[in-house]
Amino acid sequence: MNIHEYQAKELLAKYGIGIPAGHAATTVEEAVEGAKKLPGPLYVVKAQIHAGGRGKGTFKELGPDAKGGVRLAKSVEDVESNARDMLGNTLVTVQTGEAGKQVNRLYVTDGVDIAREYYLSMLVDRATGRVAMIVSTEGGMDIEQVAHDTPEKITTITIDPAQGFMPHHGRAVAFALKLTGDLNKQAQKLAKQLYTAFMDLDCAMLEINPLVETEDGKLLVLDTKMSFDSNALYRHPDVEAMRDETEEDPAEVEASEYDLAYIKLDGNIGCMVNGAGLAMATMDIIKLNGAFPANFLDVGGGANREKVTAAFKIILKDPAVEGILVNIFGGIMKCDVIADGIVAAAKDVNLSVPLVVRLEGTNVEQGKDILNNSGLPIVSADDLGDAARKIVAEVKQAA
Ligand code: ADP
Ligand code: MG
Repeated sequence: MNIHEYQAKELLAKYGIGIPAGHAATTVEEAVEGAKKLPGPLYVVKAQIHAGGRGKGTFKELGPDAKGGVRLAKSVEDVESNARDMLGNTLVTVQTGEAGKQVNRLYVTDGVDIAREYYLSMLVDRATGRVAMIVSTEGGMDIEQVAHDTPEKITTITIDPAQGFMPHHGRAVAFALKLTGDLNKQAQKLAKQLYTAFMDLDCAMLEINPLVETEDGKLLVLDTKMSFDSNALYRHPDVEAMRDETEEDPAEVEASEYDLAYIKLDGNIGCMVNGAGLAMATMDIIKLNGAFPANFLDVGGGANREKVTAAFKIILKDPAVEGILVNIFGGIMKCDVIADGIVAAAKDVNLSVPLVVRLEGTNVEQGKDILNNSGLPIVSADDLGDAARKIVAEVKQAA
């Protein structure tokens, strides 16, 4: 789960981390109120969307010459006009895709006199099984570009979870940022605070870009992105309350209401599978047969009729879907029960695309009979390879 910049800053501030003052706003009036509470004379008005690259973004409604989603304002009146300009309009950045994202929230924050910009991020590194801290002197830029052009300017420090954060980790971070004197000490302290926050909050990723050194010698978090391990959210109701569903894919939100693991992908073959491993294998075998999956969907072990219907509806809402492959292993669930569910769901949603079903497991023969006698144009398949070949052929034929 992702949250907004202003929310991430609220969380980090609780760990004593240096953040410029700021106030979130959903209306022009609130933005003005927020600005009045700040000392001035420099303000920055920032669009709050779940995507980076806002500063260099463009507003669809305002044309290519208008300013982006991070704007400097020199007075409260200036904050007001920039807020009016941005709220409700669609910001397109390198991370939003062409459709862009509507700006429903702003963050009005102190304008900072920046001496230098740095980069610092943290993530769970699968290769080492540790939390990695990635730092670079090249802040404020696209870190993928830095990694590509000047990889020597990026330093990765990993922290053994059993040992925890040690003073030498902090020194390594400060050294990689080429900081001396008091700034070096601030960086060591910040690294430790960030590690504590990351572990406490069950983060999946935390990125600060830029981390800045101010003209008066302070390290401040100017921009941050945080994402959380969804499986650990039950431990953090305060974080869970920060979820902004308007920023998420509507189909994924609906799927989570039915406890379905759904991720939209770019292909044209919808998949409904039980078990994440089988879902991955199904996606692989669709690709092996020359087509692409439209989604990952794991209906889980206890898929009942209601869940199967919800899954069908979610798959069919995607206009790219030209065929559906159902691949279910009836272990705890019996195949005849699943077949009943599939038939009922297919009738319920007025299925308009080819449907191939592969069932295996307990009561498989009864299940196949139910599908064959349903009167619906359901194509039955014997194994995974057969199922994939059949759905790819059906979709080609229908096109
Ligand atoms: P994004 O990464 O989405 O473009 P940032 O918050 O990183 O958004 O802003 C882009 C740039 O704008 C930063 O690299 C920084 O130079 C400038 N900036 C952002 N916030 C402030 C601020 N509070 N004061 C001064 N400059 C800022
Ligand atoms: Mg940034």
